[in-house]
Amino acid sequence: MRIKYVEHSKLTEMKNDNKCWEEWFGCEIFKRHWCKDEICQNQLITQDAAIFYNSYEKTDPTWGYFHIWLADEQEVYDGEAEDIGEVMSLHSYGINYCPLCGERLNESSA
Ligand SMILES: [Zn+2]
Repeated sequence: MRIKYVEHSKLTEMKNDNKCWEEWFGCEIFKRHWCKDEICQNQLITQDAAIFYNSYEKTDPTWGYFHIWLADEQEVYDGEAEDIGEVMSLHSYGINYCPLCGERLNESSA
């Protein structure tokens, strides 16, 4: 039996807006990397991930890969979360190249 795919209620926001990412991660976002390749772009979205040129606490901005896991119906049903959209985990790490399309990011940030 296949698990039903539940489209996340925040998906549109996550795709189109940087503000929700700033709130989740407590950082300032200056730029977002969009892969030119649509397949790479869709991969990022299905991973609930985004790539940002960002800064924490006014330090020099760097490129980072951001990943968030938000609770969906299944997690609420399983009792792992109280509400849909609750942050289950989040992490980010610094990158020099896009892990999906391979574009060198530091050059394009100048
Ligand atoms: Zn890319």
